[in-house]
Amino acid sequence: MTMMETAWRAVREASRLCRQISEQAGGIRSLIKDDRSPVTVADFASQAIVIRRLRQAFGDDVRIVAEEGADDLRDPQNAALLECLVGALSKVWPDVDAEQLLSTLDGGGDSGGEGCFWTLDPIDGTRGFLRGGQYAVSLGMIEDGRPRLGVLGCPHLSRDPDSPFDRADGEGTIYFGERGSGVKRLSVAGDEIDAVDLEPHGKLGSVLRIAESVEAAHSNQDTVSAVIERLGLPSERLRLDSQAKYAVVGRGQAHAYLRMPTDPKRKEKIWDHAAGAFLAGEAGCIVTDMHGGPLDFSRGSTLCANRGIVCAHREIHSRIIDAIDGL
Ligand code: AMP
Ligand code: MG
Repeated sequence: MTMMETAWRAVREASRLCRQISEQAGGIRSLIKDDRSPVTVADFASQAIVIRRLRQAFGDDVRIVAEEGADDLRDPQNAALLECLVGALSKVWPDVDAEQLLSTLDGGGDSGGEGCFWTLDPIDGTRGFLRGGQYAVSLGMIEDGRPRLGVLGCPHLSRDPDSPFDRADGEGTIYFGERGSGVKRLSVAGDEIDAVDLEPHGKLGSVLRIAESVEAAHSNQDTVSAVIERLGLPSERLRLDSQAKYAVVGRGQAHAYLRMPTDPKRKEKIWDHAAGAFLAGEAGCIVTDMHGGPLDFSRGSTLCANRGIVCAHREIHSRIIDAIDGL
């Protein structure tokens, strides 16, 4: 199996499991992390499945920088969640036990930096996942500070760009690709792969469509409003969770994805951007920080050399950067 196939199969398996967990009766078990964000059984299950598959393919020493840690699950207070997690995983990993599971999750503890490694967000947009909105299983590979491969599993995103993304799609879409080889697509539920002719230049009317976070805490909506005002174009704001925003821009459903800092001290995490930024770039978009600088994935687990994100179609990217500079 090629590296690319290993990667998309792992993300598809994790995406299917996330869907199953979200459809279970009785709600989704979750806990609140130290940073006060939620993490669910599905986040841990997705991370365990992807790491398990990468280790089976590339050995236990494979470098992976993943979002979740296992410490909270080792806390006896969370024993019920751990038990529920082992139960959810046992459908795809029949002999799983708690020890194996915890050590697999620990396999995502690489700190990144130089060289070649994977980076994983097992559920990007956990709040979206809990709301029944968009979320993504996001796996990227970084080489010398730049992504060279990406898989974005979007279990609630329709493959049809004309279909509204504020409704959870029954099929879901996975986009994947390697540098220079074009972007491919398959459905979360299916087996058929097709090459997508992404058209970030097509299907754009006179209204500028800007994708941004649903959560006001994640991107400054006032700054985005000010940028739009400076651009002086009629516009529409599309709010959706997760890196599905990169897919929506890459396929021409929106002109740009803007992520403007809300907290001067917070740095963007590499797993929140690697796969999405890579795929949007392969689709012909330009992805930079808010000042037009390239994203530097070689600094550890954060994009600490960058602030903010602008992913946009070629024609509009520099105008957005100029508008931000003029604020
Ligand atoms: P989104 O769905 O685009 O709003 O992004 C979800 C991601 O936002 C999560 O994976 C978090 O890592 C990240 N996040 C959490 N807090 C912040 C914040 N204050 N600023 C920017 N991103 C954040
Ligand atoms: Mg995330």
